[in-house]
Amino acid sequence: MAEVKLDFLGDLRRTHTCGELRADDAGKRVILMGWVHRRRDLGGVIFIHLRDRYGVTQLVFDESKNLEAHRRAQELSSEYVIAAEGTVSLRSAETVNPSIVTGEVEVAVDKLWILNESRTPPFPLEESVDVKEETRLKYRYVDLRRPHMQRNIIMRSKITFAVRQALYAQDFLEIETPFMTRSTPEGARDYLVPSRVQPGNFYALPQSPQIFKQLLMVGGYERYFQIVRCFRDEDLRADRQPEFTQIDLEMSFAQQETIYQVIEPLVFAVCEAAGKSVALEIPRITYAEAMRSYGSDKPDLRIPPFHCVEDLFPGAGLTGEGLPLVAIHVPKVGQLSRKERDEFKAYGQERGLRVYDDVKRLERDYPEQLAKVRERIRPADEDLLILAGWAGEKKGVLPENTLLLAAGQLRLFIAQKYNDRHKLLDPDVFKFLWVIDFPMFEWDEDDQRWNAAHHPFTSVHDEDLDKLTSDPAHCRAKSYDLVLNGVELGSGSIRIHRRDVQTTVFAALGFSEEEAKRRFGFLLEALEFGAPPHGGIALGLDRLVMLLAGEQSIREVIPFPKTAKGTDLMCEAPSPIPDRQLRELGIRLNVPQ
Ligand code: ASP
Repeated sequence: MAEVKLDFLGDLRRTHTCGELRADDAGKRVILMGWVHRRRDLGGVIFIHLRDRYGVTQLVFDESKNLEAHRRAQELSSEYVIAAEGTVSLRSAETVNPSIVTGEVEVAVDKLWILNESRTPPFPLEESVDVKEETRLKYRYVDLRRPHMQRNIIMRSKITFAVRQALYAQDFLEIETPFMTRSTPEGARDYLVPSRVQPGNFYALPQSPQIFKQLLMVGGYERYFQIVRCFRDEDLRADRQPEFTQIDLEMSFAQQETIYQVIEPLVFAVCEAAGKSVALEIPRITYAEAMRSYGSDKPDLRIPPFHCVEDLFPGAGLTGEGLPLVAIHVPKVGQLSRKERDEFKAYGQERGLRVYDDVKRLERDYPEQLAKVRERIRPADEDLLILAGWAGEKKGVLPENTLLLAAGQLRLFIAQKYNDRHKLLDPDVFKFLWVIDFPMFEWDEDDQRWNAAHHPFTSVHDEDLDKLTSDPAHCRAKSYDLVLNGVELGSGSIRIHRRDVQTTVFAALGFSEEEAKRRFGFLLEALEFGAPPHGGIALGLDRLVMLLAGEQSIREVIPFPKTAKGTDLMCEAPSPIPDRQLRELGIRLNVPQ
């Protein structure tokens, strides 16, 4: 770096931020501090755009007015940190800059302090420049200065504050739970922390505070919340982070309805904090309806539902025996070429569907039936209407769901592909939805056993209680997901608060009594000491902020995220550790080369 003589901050105080000065301030003496955002040298006059978190203000160094300040300003480069003292002056009409809020004024500087210099930044800070994500993550502290990151991180802070306000207003207590604990039940792998004082023993980092929040209910803190980090060692599929943040809450004496009444005002407060307007009521549909209308347990309501129309085609053989025939309707797609139709047809076929994309032909072969389909759906002339049935064998426990899921994916594929025509997938439209009454169990083909669809502490519907062991496939859970624009924001449930029911559910999940005791013995025991009925939910803060900020990835709203491989490129974690540390922990490595 060039040798620049640096000044001390001493007791220098700034009087204003870089986003504050307006025409009314003309004539004031001010001191501003910030980064050199842009520098224009016109010879006798140097213009600096000075930037801080609040905005940008133009500084003027005029050789004819202050030679000394002008001379020092010649030493400045991008991202130098400076303090400048001067007088606010109005800009002439033709030099007003409407693109910055301080654009009516500038500061004529007569004193300049250079507080720190900067190497040339690894990439320009202008938004328009596309920078490789790896470089952005390596120099995250520079990337964080870019306008969209500033906007996102500030929005995240505002949202977090709104969450706290909304929950405190509803009498929730903010209570912390341990990070060093034992395995929790969310079903991912745990991150482990070896104990030095008890060699051979490990803590697990919590996948969520699930058990602790339930124990807080047993402990009498009937409204708990926490904005909390969760840790899950998953094969990092698209856009997951090994650590992520949940808005986690739990309530005693709560029914599903109580939870909705707490979450809805919270969601509206959050949207307001983010400057987004949303409908005041969140619709609810059951999991079964979501599957039959959207082929998804997290429907995107910005696109119209599909319709199951097998009842209109009895005996036509267009789908598998006893299975749905789905009419998919996507507005304003217009005429499609053969090639375009072949593309989505192939997409459906890969997922086991038989796609009837030629409506004219259907119209010819099934005129009456198709008229009825049209009556049900009422598509406009320029809308796309196709049918999809099952091409494969009828197999598995719930083939109907496989078909519906495939049709749901096809619906989304087409909608996304032609979004430039119908523009329904507008990132500034926010459609929240509750999906309720999920099945209690999911069949695991690989292990040939039932798994908990949510987690093993979820209550079953009272009417389904006696089906727990006899008919697990038809047990509905008292569970609910909050969905926004096709993204699952969070899940929750009313919990089991009785020891006998919890034992039955563990048994239905194939846990031996011993295993249940070993893993969750302390919870089972707590249920014997007057556990109140309770329930709760956890919302993913990262995803919520991502959607409200109009971003595609949660990495854009996490200050220091990890890559898809779980690496922190800036501090180079994870990293090997010295032998001495391993010895202290009683650990010997056996890593395949
Ligand atoms: N602990 C659950 C999860 O992380 C959420 C809940 O049931 O409250 O998914």
